[in-house]
Amino acid sequence: MLTTVTSTHCPYCALQCGMNLRPAGEGGEGVEVVERTDFPVNRGALCGKGRTAPAVLSSRVRLAGPLVKNPATGELEPATWEEALRAVAEGLRRTRDGHGADAVGVFGGGGLTNEKAYTLGKFARLVLGTSQIDYNGRFCMSSAAAAHQRAFGLDRGLPFPLEDIPRTGCVILVGSNLAETMPPALRYLTELKENGGRLIVVDPRRTRTAEQADLHLAPRPGTDLALALGLLHLVVAEGRTDDDFIRDRTTGWPDARAAAMSHWPALVERITGVPVPQLREAVRVFCEPDNAMVLTARGPEQQSKGTDTVGAWINLCLATGRAGRPLSGYGCLTGQGNGQGGREHGQKADQLPGYRKLDDPAARAHVAGVWGVDPDTLPGPGRSAYELLDALGTDIKALLLMGSNPVVSAPRAAHIQERLESLDFLAVADVVLSETAALADVVLPVTQWAEETGTTTNLEGRVLLRRRAIQPPEGVRSDLEVLHGLAELLGWEKGFPTDPEEVFDELRRASAGGPADYAGISYRRIVEEDGVFWPCPEADHPGTPRLFLDRFATPDGLARFVPVTHRAAGEETDEEYPVVLTTGRVVSQYQSGAQTRRVAELNAAAPGPFVELHPRLAERLGVAEGEPVAVVSRRGRAVAPARITTGIRPDTVFMPFHWPGEGRANTLTNPALDPTSRMPEFKVCAVRLEAAARA
Ligand code: SF4
Repeated sequence: MLTTVTSTHCPYCALQCGMNLRPAGEGGEGVEVVERTDFPVNRGALCGKGRTAPAVLSSRVRLAGPLVKNPATGELEPATWEEALRAVAEGLRRTRDGHGADAVGVFGGGGLTNEKAYTLGKFARLVLGTSQIDYNGRFCMSSAAAAHQRAFGLDRGLPFPLEDIPRTGCVILVGSNLAETMPPALRYLTELKENGGRLIVVDPRRTRTAEQADLHLAPRPGTDLALALGLLHLVVAEGRTDDDFIRDRTTGWPDARAAAMSHWPALVERITGVPVPQLREAVRVFCEPDNAMVLTARGPEQQSKGTDTVGAWINLCLATGRAGRPLSGYGCLTGQGNGQGGREHGQKADQLPGYRKLDDPAARAHVAGVWGVDPDTLPGPGRSAYELLDALGTDIKALLLMGSNPVVSAPRAAHIQERLESLDFLAVADVVLSETAALADVVLPVTQWAEETGTTTNLEGRVLLRRRAIQPPEGVRSDLEVLHGLAELLGWEKGFPTDPEEVFDELRRASAGGPADYAGISYRRIVEEDGVFWPCPEADHPGTPRLFLDRFATPDGLARFVPVTHRAAGEETDEEYPVVLTTGRVVSQYQSGAQTRRVAELNAAAPGPFVELHPRLAERLGVAEGEPVAVVSRRGRAVAPARITTGIRPDTVFMPFHWPGEGRANTLTNPALDPTSRMPEFKVCAVRLEAAARA
């Protein structure tokens, strides 16, 4: 029972809004959220998801104890923790012994705390000895991470705090619908405008965010790269480059310049559908103030050329001197609650804690030293998330999955569901019986945000502490306890603590000296300072809210221009599939909806999927508002009611992806992968529409 007010953070998106929890109910057995105005990121504001988050803690559909599949009936049945953990250990061991360590896969999530992500990566590499670990953050912002690394030598979503946004002169917001994905963040853009700054939004839809813009550019989905190149072309042609900055702080400009100069405005208009006068206006608005920023989100990132697309926007920043200076720069608005920390501490296929590279001998030696093992025993890099899921049932025969629901969230989801069903063994740790957990041989019910302590790293690189406010129900255990128990059963008696602070202290040592250096951050400091920005290498280091002001994190300290050119999406429209589908989010649901679909208030606000389409398309199809529309791609068919609006391009339809069943948008999406980030192309695929009643 909660007896005092506890300050903590929201369990959902990467804004990680601060909130207080206080006792609720007659006997004080429940909790309710109250605003916490002293946390600077959201200053008390919360969206509906955050306000209603306690509903999942007490939900009737919450898992109350482990479930193990009865082989005779195929049904999941209640089991003790000992039986369930033994079944998981046996399933993983049997596969490892029979088929080798890499036949066992591990799949994590960007919602896991830093402590869990760290322990999961360590468990996979030490206990299971497998290289096959990745996480759903690969589906989220990995293209921006790759582009950040390539240009600046370091990836931190925002290299400056959110508080800088209202003080810059112009923001180009590319493929982000902040008003729905993280509503409290919208105030930074509102304040920008109140201060006289300008807002340009790039989005094929006139979203609630785009409605706030001074200039809305609506390119055809998948053409943002060409758009950025067209703007850079005009910057050069109009003599708006910052030549001193290019000379002193960058390298590689001649090739990037040449690539941009081959993208004439008229050509860019043909590719993107954005008229040349709008391109010229965007360049003027962006270049006139002393400072400006480009912020990207999933729109440009979730493409088969996402890394180059983000790279093109970075090139625009570099050419105009809008990087490595106060109140200017490029940043990525990370999506998942711990999307930033989740990619720093070792649950990614190619990385070790501290954002170290798994194929770097020095990094391996350092982390192996912290873990007390021979570096040569650490496996090498494994498959990326989609490739891992695609290999289930063939090369990978058993899977341990934590904090993810790929049956709804993976691209080409029906195929991925089949791959999951073909496994010899599947274990899922979750708080509810998600669509993926329902396929498992063993389901392990785990604690939730308010029932456990742990750190997350928000989209600014600010490390935060979520604090345990209430006791978890008797039948559930924390993910750390699950991994500890499995490690023991698999013969690893030491090294998997269950106390989050103990894990964090080990993580600090493992990250020390790495790009994401947490060595100087402690739970005590986080509480006292309301978060600490990494890198923070020493206990007396103040943390680093602003990166790159003196030098970039490359060996020579210079930012890298990377020459990029426009190329088509992985799948283009044709006679059979003449319309572009793009997918995204709505304000009252979160990711696969595993939690938010269990909250009555959120369900009432967003009860199901829909197909957003232009009136011209609706008329051609003969459907009216609310009538069912079938959307068909080369991978499958989804049906949802029509939502007709002039706020979308006539050649494009939009579906939110939060739901399973016949309206599952990811049944349709294309797993074409970016060659660098291995990010699937959620944002663009070719479809045809049918009036479902006649299909
Ligand atoms: Fe939670 Fe994000 Fe909503 Fe804030 S904006 S309350 S962090 S879901």
